[in-house]
Amino acid sequence: MVSDRLSIGLALRSFFLLVSLALLAYALVTTHWYVVEVLLLLLVMAQLTEIIHALTRTNREIARFLDAIAYDDTSQSFTGLSRQAPYRDLGAAMGRVMDRLREGRSEREEMGRYLAAMLAHVPVALIAREEDGRYVLLNTAARQMFGLPATTKLDPDRYGIEFRTGLDQLKAGARRLLHLELSGSMIAVKAAATSFWARGEHRTLISLQNIGDELSAQQLDAWHSLIRTIAHEVMNSLTPISSLSQTARELVATVQADLPEGGEPHRTLGDALEALDAVARRSEGLLHFVQNHRRLTQRMTARPEDTLLVRVFARMERLLGPEMAARGIEFARSCSPETLKLRVDPELLDQALINLLRNAMEAVAGHLEAKIQLSGEALPGGEVAIRVSDNGPGIAAELREQIFIPFFTTKQQGTGVGLTLVRQIASLHGGSVTLGEYPGRGATFTLRLPA
Ligand code: ADP
Repeated sequence: MVSDRLSIGLALRSFFLLVSLALLAYALVTTHWYVVEVLLLLLVMAQLTEIIHALTRTNREIARFLDAIAYDDTSQSFTGLSRQAPYRDLGAAMGRVMDRLREGRSEREEMGRYLAAMLAHVPVALIAREEDGRYVLLNTAARQMFGLPATTKLDPDRYGIEFRTGLDQLKAGARRLLHLELSGSMIAVKAAATSFWARGEHRTLISLQNIGDELSAQQLDAWHSLIRTIAHEVMNSLTPISSLSQTARELVATVQADLPEGGEPHRTLGDALEALDAVARRSEGLLHFVQNHRRLTQRMTARPEDTLLVRVFARMERLLGPEMAARGIEFARSCSPETLKLRVDPELLDQALINLLRNAMEAVAGHLEAKIQLSGEALPGGEVAIRVSDNGPGIAAELREQIFIPFFTTKQQGTGVGLTLVRQIASLHGGSVTLGEYPGRGATFTLRLPA
């Protein structure tokens, strides 16, 4: 169709040129009509110019069209061409191609925006390893994980040598558990890699998922249901034992009181009374113990409010400062910035800090130059880190995983409930609690809570 009109146009032009040439030749050979000959010559020249102009116009428009495709320039328009009869079909065809290009481009842009929004919102941190071994942060979750809100560059050396080598050795298709050191805490992440080509370069896409919190939540759930079941069974059997032993003791005491005055005290009754007394006391003690532990599994609810961290710290000092001073423990607290606020349930935060500070006090007991430090800091990712550090003996590597397990304790009078509660309170607020990696140099517990 396009070529039909153009060819018809060209054929007609050529035909008229030939006619004009034939007339000119005839006039030259057979006549001396000079004026007519000059006019015919001018006509031939005009027709030739018109043909050359027509050919160069098509070439120019085709070149412009191909350039527009090559440079993805969808702003070019060919409507001028389609207004001229011989080029109408060519102009219309070029216009249709440009419309398709425009549509394709806007679809690509839309898809790009959609992918960018998805990338920004996936909760998994994504980073890419370039061909030259450099790492770049790809999404908001990655920037939050590494506390680098305003950059795309990542220097893995800053997060521990183990993390760096683990990341470098991660091959496409592989998964492994890595530990990274962040603000004095160790965080467990599940890393998975896949490779892709982008702009002629081979890159590796790496996803990092913080599984510390997930593990804790699952462990807590498992412990909760176990404790709930045991507590239920034990309480069912223990309650009648406790009340029956009380009743039996009272009965024996009444019988003993009814014995004739001045007579010999009944030895067997006396022994029975003591035995029943012991049973009653023990079962009462056991009931308390079970009830206490059942508290752990009861659903805690947080009533978060904007809380000024310095106020919480001041409360801790008022509460535990005198006891620390009496035991010769130096207590220091700092908050950066002083106006640091976070949205938490203040009572629960108090409870968590009391547990951590009490542990620290027990850890430094009897140490010379015992020191405990309580500090708060705003993290770049919009979180707040609260640290409780002591210069006690620290925690042995083999115990690090166990200390958060409910009822795990190394103390004679310990319950093993303190850290479990701290973890429960942290996860209730969408945060976490981790132990710093400083064996032999005391212990540092870090509570990370959303601001
Ligand atoms: P409890 O204090 O009753 O033992 P926790 O859950 O609070 O229970 O602590 C569990 C264990 O973690 C402790 O028995 C102790 O071994 C260890 N631990 C906790 N905090 C510290 C600390 N600051 N320094 C050394 N060990 C600690």
